[in-house]
Amino acid sequence: MKENVFNREAKVIRKARSALSDGTMQGEGAEQAYSDLLSEYEKVVRQSKRLLKMGDRMQNALSSLNEELLLREQTFRGIFENATEGIYRTDGEGLILEANSALAQMLGYSCTDTLLCRIPEIASIFSNPHMLAQYRTSLMNKRVVRGMQAKLRCADGETVWAEINAGAIETQSAEEKQAPGVVGVIADITERKRMMREMCRLARTDCLTGLWNRGYFVELAAQEIVRCRRFGSKLSLLLVDVDYFKRVNDQFGHDIGDKVLIGVAETLRSTLREVDVVARFGGEEFVVMLPDTELKAACKAAERVCQVMREQDFADKGDTPLPVTVSIGVTAYQGSETTLDILLKQADLAMYSAKHKGRDRVECCSLEQAGNF
Ligand code: GH3
Ligand code: MG
Ligand code: MG
Repeated sequence: MKENVFNREAKVIRKARSALSDGTMQGEGAEQAYSDLLSEYEKVVRQSKRLLKMGDRMQNALSSLNEELLLREQTFRGIFENATEGIYRTDGEGLILEANSALAQMLGYSCTDTLLCRIPEIASIFSNPHMLAQYRTSLMNKRVVRGMQAKLRCADGETVWAEINAGAIETQSAEEKQAPGVVGVIADITERKRMMREMCRLARTDCLTGLWNRGYFVELAAQEIVRCRRFGSKLSLLLVDVDYFKRVNDQFGHDIGDKVLIGVAETLRSTLREVDVVARFGGEEFVVMLPDTELKAACKAAERVCQVMREQDFADKGDTPLPVTVSIGVTAYQGSETTLDILLKQADLAMYSAKHKGRDRVECCSLEQAGNF
């Protein structure tokens, strides 16, 4: 409070006191001193009333601010407790100060107290040190972590995939120069990841046979051809077409036809090597990529496929026998000029040559034919 704020009033009081003590009060100055004292007293009363009103207004403003603060605190508490995402707050050292029940549940703890007791530091929830380093670096350099995917460690030793969004918050005054705390939100994306993997798999596979589809085969074969160019490795390609398949459909029905296609796919998979890439190219046509395989070896593999198909009965047990044969065209990578398109055309030509020669056989793309591409 200012020291001279009541100076005037003090002066009037002093004057009235001295008028009392020096006898002025009895003289003509008494009336004047009394009147001055009275008007000052009235002024003080008015000021006091104003101050009281101001005090009341301030008190009201403070109460409504407090109410608003309480409401906000309750709102945020509600969000914090009811959020389906995990929420945490750490100090500048990474010690977890608060965590909500969604985070405890996500990581397999019975309640937040157990979580805080078992993992006092945020660092302990990362199952991979590289991910932890990435989290820390991002906070240090950008003061935020945006959409970071990380595997988090659960109570039972298992892991969950999570997406973390976090930001640094100033909890200390600037002079104290303490590292800022962090508030973060963690979403469980294990299911999202699984669905993404499943979608990728579905986009790459043929739904009837479970083999790779044409699109993914083209992707894999193009990569393999790049490898051949770079490292001079070998590569062969088979085009396998079921003979007179239309007759199978006509005679036994489309459903049995589908079963035969599944059987052909299984036979191709089991007859060829693990490293060979088998795909359904369309309809009753299949394509196989044989990495690190020369034309001669590829022809041998194709002969084996032909023979296994020929000897197999594709009918269900007890049903009318359903033999199936295939015609196979074979070609191989010839050099840096060879593209996947060329290989497919060569294999197609060879396959049609096998059809013309009576089916149930293997034909190789001859060097002369290969030279024409
Ligand atoms: P070729 O020996 O000359 O290859 O004779 P083909 O009868 O096998 O050849 P064609 O191209 O005349 O007939 C292929 C048949 O394959 C026609 C088509 O209906 C059938 N087909 C294509 N895709 C499917 C499928 O997914 N399921 C079934 N059941 N049949 C299919
Ligand atoms: Mg056919
Ligand atoms: Mg065909």
